[in-house]
Amino acid sequence: MTIGDKIVVLGGGESGTGSAVLAKKQGFEVWLSDAGAIPQKYKDVLLKYEIAFEEGTHTEEKLFSATEIIKSPGIPDKAEIIKKCKEKGIGIISEIEFASRYTNAKTIAITGSNGKTTSTLLTYHILQKAGLNVGLAGNVGKSFALQVAENHFDVFVLELSSFQLDGTYEFKPTVSVLLNITPDHLDRYEYKMKNYVASKFRIAQNQTKEEHFIFCADDEETTNWLKEHPVKANNIPFSIKQKVENGAYLDNDTINININSTLTMSIHELALQGKHNIYNSMASAIGAKLFGISDDIIRESLSDFQNVEHRLEPVLKISGIEYINDSKATNVNSTWYALDSMSTPTVWIVGGVDKGNDYNQLLPLVRNKVKAIICLGVDNKKLHEAFDGQVDIIADAASMSEAVKKAYSLGKRGDTVLLSPACASFDLFENYEDRGRQFKQAVREL
Ligand code: ADP
Repeated sequence: MTIGDKIVVLGGGESGTGSAVLAKKQGFEVWLSDAGAIPQKYKDVLLKYEIAFEEGTHTEEKLFSATEIIKSPGIPDKAEIIKKCKEKGIGIISEIEFASRYTNAKTIAITGSNGKTTSTLLTYHILQKAGLNVGLAGNVGKSFALQVAENHFDVFVLELSSFQLDGTYEFKPTVSVLLNITPDHLDRYEYKMKNYVASKFRIAQNQTKEEHFIFCADDEETTNWLKEHPVKANNIPFSIKQKVENGAYLDNDTINININSTLTMSIHELALQGKHNIYNSMASAIGAKLFGISDDIIRESLSDFQNVEHRLEPVLKISGIEYINDSKATNVNSTWYALDSMSTPTVWIVGGVDKGNDYNQLLPLVRNKVKAIICLGVDNKKLHEAFDGQVDIIADAASMSEAVKKAYSLGKRGDTVLLSPACASFDLFENYEDRGRQFKQAVREL
């Protein structure tokens, strides 16, 4: 790219607006196009930086005049307009690829099917506590591009979805973290698991032995892929099932992090409880160690981290019943970990928009831990097919307040009411945050 080249940004959300600002600051001619409506707060930014844009349509001639296109992650590759731009031979990249060209900051990039936000915020918390000049970007907070344009950080912690990785070609993180891979978003990957796995591994595609790749040795999709497609970077595993030499593992209730020296810590001291969070804590601690953070700071940060809203978030205890909001559990695997971490009889609120879920893997946990199920969705048929007869009581609810009231009537002192939907939220709610907030509101109103 040279100055005077024309950048077209597709999508006027967080990443698109950030990319447009960075492109403008770098001296390119920039034009942004969104087929839908652009939220006012992003329009204000575009106006402030005098960036030309359109909304409600894509004017093809303008798109086709681009030297390079930056595509927002929400736009699928199979969208007609993307296919046409590709046919014209125009390079299409993601915001992450674009932003990475204009910063010398070190990066720790985190991906996985579940646990990205938690691990990203935890890693950021540790690095911040250690006094590093660190930025937080990607799927959480402000876009990477905007921060490269407006701030100067020495290190970035980046949360990356597979959609963001899809448009990366030369992006090379200093440390990459692949937490786990379980089926999700397969509609964007021709319903082929191998395409989705390949997308996740793009995080390490340009790394050399100078960089580091942190991965879960207990995750079969990851380890199977690695056998056929080795990653050049320094491979650092974490596991709760086996002892590993250079990496992190669980020994009884103690996590051991062996990177140069050994950091040990009891899992009971971790701020984030549950098996999945042992993984998240280990991955974040390895990342921090690679950045030279002291064992004391890491230990302190792992124990005083404030959990993120909507992820196994304790809400209230009413009449001896504990209410937990896990609205962010939008797939079966994350709900598996939620149920696994339940230690008292559970009234489980589940349902929403099913993304081709296979509920069979939940059956052993449901039989063991769940006393009643409340199906909360417009269409609960699949849930009934999967769980009728597996628990004593299975009921339906058409709103969050109805679900919470039913759960309250079914619970006894010492029980837990868990909202962990395993589904997307769009049938009854705006998004998972809205669903979680409505749950908390309904609990407070009991
Ligand atoms: P993401 O950003 O990848 O969607 P989050 O940290 O927001 O992940 O957590 C999403 C859901 O997955 C929550 O319900 C959470 O309890 C669960 N979860 C968190 N970490 C893991 C993990 N390592 N494995 C499986 N589930 C997890």
